[in-house]
Amino acid sequence: MLAFAAPSGSERRERRAVAAEGKRPAGEVFMDVTLEKIHLAERMSRLGTESAFDVLVRAQELEVQGREIVHLEIGEPDFPTASHIVEAAAQALRAGWTHYGPSAGLSQLREAVAEDASRRRDISVEPGEVVITPGAKPILFFTFLALVEHGDEVLYPNPGFPIYESMIHFVNARAVPYGVPEERDFGIDVGEILSKITDRTRLLILNSPHNPTGGAVARADLVTLAEALVGREIFILSDEIYSRLLYEGEHDSIAELPGMKQRTIILDGFSKTYAMTGWRLGYGIMCADLAQKVARLQTNSNSCTASFTQIAGVEALRGDQASVDHMVEEFRRRRMVMVDGLNRIPGFHCRMPRGAFYAFPNIAGTNRNSKALADALLDEAGVACLSGTAFGAWGEGYLRFSFANSVQNIHKALERIEDWTKKNL
Ligand code: PLP
Repeated sequence: MLAFAAPSGSERRERRAVAAEGKRPAGEVFMDVTLEKIHLAERMSRLGTESAFDVLVRAQELEVQGREIVHLEIGEPDFPTASHIVEAAAQALRAGWTHYGPSAGLSQLREAVAEDASRRRDISVEPGEVVITPGAKPILFFTFLALVEHGDEVLYPNPGFPIYESMIHFVNARAVPYGVPEERDFGIDVGEILSKITDRTRLLILNSPHNPTGGAVARADLVTLAEALVGREIFILSDEIYSRLLYEGEHDSIAELPGMKQRTIILDGFSKTYAMTGWRLGYGIMCADLAQKVARLQTNSNSCTASFTQIAGVEALRGDQASVDHMVEEFRRRRMVMVDGLNRIPGFHCRMPRGAFYAFPNIAGTNRNSKALADALLDEAGVACLSGTAFGAWGEGYLRFSFANSVQNIHKALERIEDWTKKNL
């Protein structure tokens, strides 16, 4: 039997860097076809990416040169998946959950998701309204393919998860950004959103808690928005992937408000909550008719999500939640360390994020632009973080730091940034 050691953190990063670069690992044989010779479909020129991977590649290169980098760029929990979930997957493999399953997902997991969603939100969800996907990202992809046509307008947060903008361009829709202003604690300005709605608006993307700011949309704002949307043919993609990583207040979903559930697609999953990023397990909750269409997109792409992974997902949702509680408490502690530390650095001003695991300091006081500062911190201070502009043009003036790293490493990063600012600003 071949035995594979679990990859270390740096090995994992290297694999991702290789994958992001499109390079092959040394020694692997591949066809010598350069991209210049391939005629790509026009739509490929409209597809964006996540520049977190570019930063990872650069940080990796510095590590190869012998530099020691603190990684605060990547958006994934640094905790292992809980052992009872790993054991459930191992048992499922041994029990023969190794075959194709239904495109919409195994009934066991659809039921568990419906149960969990109904318990955590003030809505009643049926298993037929759930589609299980490999990671939550396909729900974004499928929603766009199913609902958005050339020329339709899509409202989305800027700064925001870069895949929103990428998908809008990919389907040839019109990107209509709205702000998540710092003075509103990175919540939404309903007036701004409503002023941007036109007859062509097809989809409104909400993300709460929000990547990259850690902001959360206030329930009062959701109520005003929902009231204004009644009677309009606008779908809402509510990205709630960080819904359990909330440090203040309760999570609110727009789907809970009158008339909204039928027109909302809730995106959620296991990556962040259960530290299962590499398992690729997520889901969407939507009206049953749309769920059938989305399942058909899955039939045409992935066929289905890995069966043993789904069985592990049932255990994640129905089993002991202590590991989630522990992780959230730990992130809460790190959040304080990160934000307090950033606020002590001249030129930085950081609000306390309400959710997710990101701090989004305003760096206007440094008189540097975001990309230049992020590059300098990586090259000269050995701290990898992301420019606010990695999340859209309106992220200028900010940096994103992930606090999904040890308190020790967060302290180390803060000291390095402070030293750098003393020497350079
Ligand atoms: N939505 C947001 C806001 C995210 O930050 C992420 C991952 O970083 C996703 C969706 C995708 O999650 P998954 O890894 O489950 O595909």
